[in-house]
Amino acid sequence: MPGLSIINIHKYFAKIRALAGISFNVQTSEIVAVLGPSGCGKSTLLNIIAGLELPDQGDIEWDGKSLAGVPTHQRGFGLMFQDFALFPHKDVFENVAFGLRMTNLPLEDIRVRVKEVLELVGLPGFEARDVNTLSGGEAQRVALARSLSPHPRLLMLDEPLGSLDRSLRERLVFDLRDILNHSQQTAIYVTHDQEEAFALADRVVLMNAGHVEQIGSPQDIYHRPASVFAARFLGLNNLLAGKICNLHGEPFISTSIGEIPLTLDMIEHSALAKQDISKLDGKDIMVLLRPDAVQINQNSNCQVKGRVLETTFRGSTCQVAIQVNHVPLRFDFPSSEELPHKGEIICITFTPSRAIQLFL
Ligand code: ADP
Repeated sequence: MPGLSIINIHKYFAKIRALAGISFNVQTSEIVAVLGPSGCGKSTLLNIIAGLELPDQGDIEWDGKSLAGVPTHQRGFGLMFQDFALFPHKDVFENVAFGLRMTNLPLEDIRVRVKEVLELVGLPGFEARDVNTLSGGEAQRVALARSLSPHPRLLMLDEPLGSLDRSLRERLVFDLRDILNHSQQTAIYVTHDQEEAFALADRVVLMNAGHVEQIGSPQDIYHRPASVFAARFLGLNNLLAGKICNLHGEPFISTSIGEIPLTLDMIEHSALAKQDISKLDGKDIMVLLRPDAVQINQNSNCQVKGRVLETTFRGSTCQVAIQVNHVPLRFDFPSSEELPHKGEIICITFTPSRAIQLFL
């Protein structure tokens, strides 16, 4: 289904390259999260989509039609920022009705829409409340209702939960997803928080230094990060330098923690698949050992042996740091398992095709 198309957007601020050729689509009713570290260009991209900033190159289209020259207020897009200040001297009704008043809608229709949208955000009957008496979560919902009330064809949310405490944020992210899905709202959600992006979005666009690093479903991105940057950004830090060896015999990857058998599906599921396989012998690569795909296994053939540096309880999982040949690695185990103690020497085993990912 058509919707928003972002086509090869470039943007410089003097000598700073903020965006270096961004392209992706947002289909109607889809929620796309734009995820990336601070400074990677997320807000600049939103401002360009909104028409608040001009690109140096590239185009923004809606349903295949260019929006070049269409001013912000005629794009039919809504914006909700982190510092979404409500109008302090207006009650909830007037805050939510704000965008509708601009459209010359009859007052009765405005009342119906405000009531509807307050019910949608879980604040029925809040019309007469003074906004200064609202809790942080309620104020957030009023701001969302205000953005949704004029039926924007695209809603853009820029770190909308960033200023709230963690538990409220976790709760609101699920509510927000339900509200957006229920109203079939097409949305772009900008965040640096992968958990928020994963919980909320149908698809995630991972950005790095002004370009798109990877686009995929939350599951794709988490299970198949496309690059070392993506892996690190997702907190997958067991990254080792490796070399492909003995390709024409029994191939393996030589790493600082030992030799890891190399199978064809490991190559096929990585960027190495695009290379000429016959030329991979001796190639330097990066190896990710996924933290959640190994077992502690004292009795079987030991693949990797290491000394436990520390264990950190994290609720449902426990993180165990292990020193292997002077390399610190971290693994997650269910905290219901019996866990090793600091100083203990343990064996870990893994299925390479599940636990290992390769990057160029
Ligand atoms: P993010 O939203 O991902 O934190 P931004 O889009 O705000 O990233 O910024 C991208 C880059 O562009 C950064 O290097 C930032 O310093 C720069 N930048 C953003 N806006 C301006 C501006 N108005 N003038 C100069 N540099 C800017």
